[in-house]
Amino acid sequence: MQSFSSLVPPVMRASTVKFASLEDFVTRGSRLPDGFSYGTTGTPTHRQLESRIAALDGGAHCVVVPSGQAAVALVMMALLKSGDHLLISDSSYGPAQTFALEHMATLGVIVERYDPCIDGDTFGTLIRPATKLIWMESPGSITMEVQDVEAIVAQARKHGVLTAIDNTWSSPLYFQPLTLGVDLCIHACTKYMGGHSDLLMGSISANDFELYRRMRHLQSYMGLASSADDCFLVERGLETLALRMAHQSAVALDLAAWLETQDCVQQVLHPALKSSPSHALWQRYFTGSGGVFSMALTPAPVDAYKALFDDLQTFSIGASWGSVHSLIAYYPAQIQDSRAFPLVRTPLVRVSVGLEGAERLREDLDRALRRFQAVAAASPQQA
Ligand SMILES: *Cc1c(COP(=O)(O)O)cnc(C)c1O
Repeated sequence: MQSFSSLVPPVMRASTVKFASLEDFVTRGSRLPDGFSYGTTGTPTHRQLESRIAALDGGAHCVVVPSGQAAVALVMMALLKSGDHLLISDSSYGPAQTFALEHMATLGVIVERYDPCIDGDTFGTLIRPATKLIWMESPGSITMEVQDVEAIVAQARKHGVLTAIDNTWSSPLYFQPLTLGVDLCIHACTKYMGGHSDLLMGSISANDFELYRRMRHLQSYMGLASSADDCFLVERGLETLALRMAHQSAVALDLAAWLETQDCVQQVLHPALKSSPSHALWQRYFTGSGGVFSMALTPAPVDAYKALFDDLQTFSIGASWGSVHSLIAYYPAQIQDSRAFPLVRTPLVRVSVGLEGAERLREDLDRALRRFQAVAAASPQQA
């Protein structure tokens, strides 16, 4: 047959992995964590993506799972047992906190939320003999607090506690926590790496082989198998990650700076803005910024938010972020009120910038914000 070569990696799908001999078959388990045994542990398509993500993260190993939330749950399940103490940042991804506070607590894990803005010395006082894992997310979901990762890692190391961080916001391009000694780096590949709102995937990277082996083991025994086709799509997403991030980052920061000057905008939560209380830490740790940020608007009834959201044309209303399509999401004040260490107590609007032109996005927001103001001005009571 004529030889064929392509720039595109093949997609290898499998439930069964075929072995050449009985000897090969009976020793198949020994091929893990990197090799191939059965479909649940992946195919060369999975390994190729995992090694690319590991390299981007500055790590030696990576395991992919079917969603970002599965990555969060897998790390907690693999590392914690009854009686262990988990410290989780109060601004980490909502479902990660829910999984910890509801599910892990049911299993007997003691879950404690901590202030994401805490300094290293104070953080040290939270560590108990039973503390087994410190969960970080920087910047935090929705409220965007940047954590002092090095100071927290120093305290963790001092007490022999493992650290994990959700690094989805900046992608591996603008921050590599493993290089600062964080043990596990998690991404929702659903966001920037996939980048097109058409798949779910999560990744867990590590430098330590034994930690990686534990992740692969539980990934396989919980049956958290990802589709080879989705791995292919994430890998294709990586080809344009840098270009997309550069555009989304620049347009988001411009929009954020413009929004700060608008009358009906009370506060913009974006750590790359000089006005942000997290700005100094952001400068210290990040070489760029993600394309998602939040804002608090001047007090207004919910009808004003309805007018704003329903008026938008370029932005779509929806959860998730990091895709080529710009998105907007609303978080009522109760979400902030239920936090242990709330940063604000107002409703928040989260903006995720896609690949549309900057001017078109600004015009869309400008018009919708005027609708917000008009409805707010016409209504006597304020939410
Ligand atoms: C979306 C998100 C997740 C979960 O990812 P899914 O793939 O949607 O399950 C985890 N962490 C952060 C910070 C996220 O934004």
